[in-house]
Amino acid sequence: MSHPCTACELLEGAREVPGGILLREDGFALHALDPSPLPGWLVLTSERHARAWYDLHESELRQLGPLAARVMAAQRAALGAEHAYAFAIGDLLLHFHLHLVPRYAGTPERLRGRRCFEGLPEDTLPAADVAEAARRVLATLRR
Ligand SMILES: [Zn+2]
Repeated sequence: MSHPCTACELLEGAREVPGGILLREDGFALHALDPSPLPGWLVLTSERHARAWYDLHESELRQLGPLAARVMAAQRAALGAEHAYAFAIGDLLLHFHLHLVPRYAGTPERLRGRRCFEGLPEDTLPAADVAEAARRVLATLRR
């Protein structure tokens, strides 16, 4: 491929993230963000190579809200997050993905809200911690 899509590579198994693909459901795959400054930062990626919200099918759009809400509730229940953000920006990766980002009581000001994308190299969590947080959210989702 002349313009490889890292999301398609992940879905095809050509690229790995800590914890692997946690869930494939309703046209979306759930996986951890890598690298990540916050434990439990997960991403819902469309199984289809769709550019953004406006390219998702009606049926996918109907599933997306309830699925995202379940994941965010699980981030709060499993990890003790006070809140969870949802971001779909898509300027760099041209394949629909929704960031679901837990915000904890102890999350520093500089990583709150949209600033979570501005983590420094030293904020990067060990892959084992990313995978463990993802597993805990998944266990709660499956209950
Ligand atoms: Zn793609």
